[in-house]
Amino acid sequence: MVSEMKQKYVKSTISEEGKPPNLVPDGGDLLYAVLGVTANNALDTIGQVDQNDPSSQDKALKKALSKAISLTLNGRLLTLEDTPMRSRYHSAMDCMKYVFQNGQVLWSRLCGQRTCLICSKLHTSKMLRSYTPEFDKMVDPQFVVLTYGRLPHVSEIGYEGLQFTFEALRKDLTNVIRRCKRKLGRQVNAIGTFECAIDPYKQNPFHPHFNLIVDGYESAKMIKQEWIKEHNVGGQENISPDAQYIRSADKGSLKELFKYVTKMLGKNDFDAVCYDAVQRAIANKRTVFTFGSIRAHRIKSSNEEMFVADWLPNQTEVFKYTPKVFDWTDPKRNRLTGFNPNQDEIDLIKSLKYKK
Ligand SMILES: [Zn+2]
Repeated sequence: MVSEMKQKYVKSTISEEGKPPNLVPDGGDLLYAVLGVTANNALDTIGQVDQNDPSSQDKALKKALSKAISLTLNGRLLTLEDTPMRSRYHSAMDCMKYVFQNGQVLWSRLCGQRTCLICSKLHTSKMLRSYTPEFDKMVDPQFVVLTYGRLPHVSEIGYEGLQFTFEALRKDLTNVIRRCKRKLGRQVNAIGTFECAIDPYKQNPFHPHFNLIVDGYESAKMIKQEWIKEHNVGGQENISPDAQYIRSADKGSLKELFKYVTKMLGKNDFDAVCYDAVQRAIANKRTVFTFGSIRAHRIKSSNEEMFVADWLPNQTEVFKYTPKVFDWTDPKRNRLTGFNPNQDEIDLIKSLKYKK
């Protein structure tokens, strides 16, 4: 069985441009996964599983929904034959393809791709843990949104054009913050994320913007003013002053900030061409920025996911993802999570958009 599965893994190896897909455990990995309880490194990792997590099955059910959505989403992206991102989309399709059970512990391999819903959610929670201590230190946190109108379709602006504009906006933001620091005569502390919303039915479908949490209303107000000044030079109105806003931030704002980074679905129809264009433009680029004294707290990231399987019999088993039943199944077709999507979830999986 091991050799048969190894073959399947090898078959799905992809060698195109982009981040190398992280989906190919070799035979040794597979053995380690099945027999891992005897391997030293496996024991180390298993020791990190939070045995007190009360909601392991809930966690697994959520992963099953994410997996189902992610599979449709990346499958749609793979209908685009010319994109250099294909290996990444393939990699995302194969995220957590197999789940290995050792006694009461489940183990699986993650893809780490931005278009993977499972990995994006893990990334968001990592970001939250990483920046919460900095947010807690802020005296008067303000949530600021800086927008930059809408950009034409890639058929007009081109893939390079889109990437160039995103890059230019990032530089504009850095300039703006630098100017604010100089004018205020003190440091400006802020955490920012970049997002590009997509409305495929608009002639100009891309709507890039920054979301920031800035410490202090004075700083926030100046950032807004300088952002407007930066783009509306010589009396021109390139950006709308009314579309830039500030409000007082609370703990939920931090969540909002990082959700923007990974927000994949909205109320608009999913458009593979536009979505792929944004992914291409932000590939290998940072989408989280810090200014002033803000430092991310180091949190170890892993390309493996482990959780407690307290609802399963104590056994050694391999489960493979079976799209037909929206769940992982063992060779006897026993299901891993028991996930049964309701009608709303089925609609979401199929249409890739939320109800209006
Ligand atoms: Zn993934």
